[in-house]
Amino acid sequence: MITLKSALKKISNITISPDTEKILLTDVNDRVLAQDLISDINIPPFDKSAMDGYACRKEDLRKILEVIEVIVPGKAPVKAIKENKCSKIMTGAMVPEGADCIIMIENTETIDENRIRIVNENTRTNICLMGEDIKPGDLLLTRGTLIKAQHLAILASVGYIEPTVYKQPRVGIISTGDELVEPQQTPQISQIRNSNGYQLIAQVNNTGCLARYMGIVKDNKKTLKGSILNALEKNDILILTGGVSKGDFDFVPKILDELDLEILFDKLAIKPGKPMVFAMGHNKFCFGLSGNPVSSFFQFELMVKPFLYKMMGCNYNPVCLKIPLGVDYTRKKSERELFFPVRITNTGTVIPVEFHGSAHINSLIEADGIVSIPIGQNKINKGTFTDVRPI
Ligand code: AMP
Ligand code: MG
Repeated sequence: MITLKSALKKISNITISPDTEKILLTDVNDRVLAQDLISDINIPPFDKSAMDGYACRKEDLRKILEVIEVIVPGKAPVKAIKENKCSKIMTGAMVPEGADCIIMIENTETIDENRIRIVNENTRTNICLMGEDIKPGDLLLTRGTLIKAQHLAILASVGYIEPTVYKQPRVGIISTGDELVEPQQTPQISQIRNSNGYQLIAQVNNTGCLARYMGIVKDNKKTLKGSILNALEKNDILILTGGVSKGDFDFVPKILDELDLEILFDKLAIKPGKPMVFAMGHNKFCFGLSGNPVSSFFQFELMVKPFLYKMMGCNYNPVCLKIPLGVDYTRKKSERELFFPVRITNTGTVIPVEFHGSAHINSLIEADGIVSIPIGQNKINKGTFTDVRPI
């Protein structure tokens, strides 16, 4: 049994050189950038009005001003602003030559069709200067960035229509167990529906990898071995649930060993989620997770997720919120790092949700995050700031 920290270290030491591809801007959400992004333009590309109003000279603010042009966005102004002149201007339009401020429309008064007066001078310049946000040569995004909507805005602004990203790993998912049936089936006595498979499909897809569900496989060593071989052939990574403990029908670790894969660990000092195997070889990687749905969920969050991001060229650093615990939390044994689901309250604390153990599938529905207690520690006092990992 190894600690979570050493297990994470082991997988972070694996060298991976993910392949890259060029894809369309419309497809890059949730993908990882495989190139640095350098600007070749100024943003804003010209001095731009931040308001609807009048472009004029500060020294003329006390005078009656003649309106000489209406400047709309997308059209360059043709007249320069001279003494006692102004141009009506819209937000986003180019500031005319000679103007050094935009007076908001709300601070002006119309005298007649061609003249205005400024009624409140106490205003800002209201000009976004050319290049004040981005200049040519600026490093905008670095290789390894996980692309979200806000990054897309930058890619689009600088015209990167086909960014180079890392290829998405194909992640096979197999649920093992004689007791399992698919959700559309009615379980017979002693059977249960396969929930892990679907939980995992969503977890994998959420990372931006390609989940490929390979079905339920019975606890039969020969059949399972065949299915694992087939799944490894068709995918880069394989995630199995169930069959990883010490029972007579827990074949996963034995099969991985027989397939000549190197087993890096087969037990983690975490609760829930102790039985977990990670094996690699022949350029393939395999996680065997616990069959218990909560354990499988936590094992994915804690171990599989960082690895999937690594496979996509991204260094995953989970968000960690410091929030005080709303109640005392105690536990009897402390030989494993304990993870418990918590809810964030509207008074700014976290409280544990009701949790009966690793099979308590509906406990996570109420949970906003997970909190851990280190090995050797039995209690967290009310009011202690805890590290909450949102889920
Ligand atoms: P195992 O890890 O195979 O010993 O399974 C541990 C527990 O998880 C058993 O109660 C199983 O019935 C249950 N279990 C295994 N696989 C699944 C699954 N895919 N969905 C829901 N529960 C499962
Ligand atoms: Mg089983």
